[in-house]
Amino acid sequence: MTVAVALAYLLAAVLFILGLIQLSSPKSARRGNQIAAVGMAIALLATIPLLHFTGAGIAITLIGLLIGIPIGAFGARRVKMTAIPQMVALFNGVGGGAAAVVAVSELLLQGSHPPFAVAFPSVFSIVIGSVSFAGSLVAFAKLQALLTGTPITYPGQQIVNGALALAIVALAVYLIAVASTPLIFVPLLILGLVLGVAFVLPIGGADMPVVISLLNAFTGLAVAASGFVLGNFALIVAGTLVGASGTLLTRLMSDAMGRSLGNVLFGAFGTVTAGPAGVAGAEGKSVRSGTPEDIATLLAYSRKVIVVPGYGLAVAQGQHAVKELADELEKRGVEVEYAIHPVAGRMPGHMNVLLAEANVPYDQLKEMDQINDEFKSADVALVVGANDVVNPAAHNSPGSPIYGMPILNADEAKNIVFMKRSMRPGFAGIDNELLYDPKTVMLFGDAKDSLMKLVAAVKAA
Ligand code: NDP
Repeated sequence: MTVAVALAYLLAAVLFILGLIQLSSPKSARRGNQIAAVGMAIALLATIPLLHFTGAGIAITLIGLLIGIPIGAFGARRVKMTAIPQMVALFNGVGGGAAAVVAVSELLLQGSHPPFAVAFPSVFSIVIGSVSFAGSLVAFAKLQALLTGTPITYPGQQIVNGALALAIVALAVYLIAVASTPLIFVPLLILGLVLGVAFVLPIGGADMPVVISLLNAFTGLAVAASGFVLGNFALIVAGTLVGASGTLLTRLMSDAMGRSLGNVLFGAFGTVTAGPAGVAGAEGKSVRSGTPEDIATLLAYSRKVIVVPGYGLAVAQGQHAVKELADELEKRGVEVEYAIHPVAGRMPGHMNVLLAEANVPYDQLKEMDQINDEFKSADVALVVGANDVVNPAAHNSPGSPIYGMPILNADEAKNIVFMKRSMRPGFAGIDNELLYDPKTVMLFGDAKDSLMKLVAAVKAA
């Protein structure tokens, strides 16, 4: 590696880190992405002089680029915001698969008895990369509803998975310490793929974003190991950063859901137990529902309204309508703020990205810790397509699957308005007592339609 290439890699590494730092706030996240992309472009360009291409190598690389670039660019531009988790799963999976394939080719090049410094990271990369590839494809299939989102379980499943993991460790040790032929990587690769599938099948579809984040961390580690195999500094740094940030994100997501990572991975959680529309598990309790005109009057004559956006707002694509409603209310002197729960929606930062698309000012988006004390003084908590993130069972019901999850204190507002289509529960599949609270009024319907009706009614109020 020449000094110029080493300096270019160093610059790329600095840009990756600066990019990651900027990703910590929605205000600077777009710039963070651009900075990291520039870093990646520099790393790619600096790698070209290191390649010793033959004619066939150039042709294969160009064919790969011609197929991959349009798929990546077109897919990323066309994907709906609610489908981002499965797109990340796919992209992440191919990253893991690529790392495994690089390690396989390096092992084949080395022939029999590869040195430890190559054998160890190669084996690591093959195992982790293949688990990540197969697991990510199953996660994609679950989120895309190609496979059932319900946990797929059978008796003794964790024992079978444990046995698979043990077999992989034994084969890996044999390959590194004893094997004279690198072809033993074939059963290792196959076992890794089987473990990837077996590991993700028992996890509920709605927990997939956490799993994807974990698999993303795995891919980072596999890529870093490939960097050791190839002696490539840029791969080591990029892979380690992905591994570390993926691990932190996984932790943050499980903490925000009030669950341990072990419970997410092995708890077979997320089986939605909802009944048909309008018949949640709370028969006999009365529910108060209102018309758009009633609720518009309540909002228009409030002093302070806190909007609680959730997954349903994203499904309905109601972000522009909610901004329009907030603008109308502000014109009438109502103070409007948005309470952002860290796991509202189906991916970290989902609500920030959604509302930023509608140009909601960042200073109106309040993190849970910033706003929770303000609900007491709010006239209305307007819960738009959210459910679990305001479910008081997290505070009051020790047996509940979401017990211990930090929630937004919407129940402390003077009035609560829920905008959703039915009495069906959210992702956790559990009833929400707040829907039956005497302070609560329901506005049934698609969130975007209801918001537009509210805008018209507030204008007329
Ligand atoms: P929930 O899934 O709890 O509730 C969403 C609600 O939106 C549903 O009750 C549904 O009710 C309603 N809804 C769906 N479509 C529409 C529509 N078109 N118009 C109006 N309402 C609609 O969402 P929350 O955001 O409150 O909570 C997120 C959940 O996802 C949490 O449990 C969290 O742990 C979990 N999760 C989040 C992750 C993240 O990173 N953000 C990752 C993994 C899980 P109805 O059908 O009656 O309309």
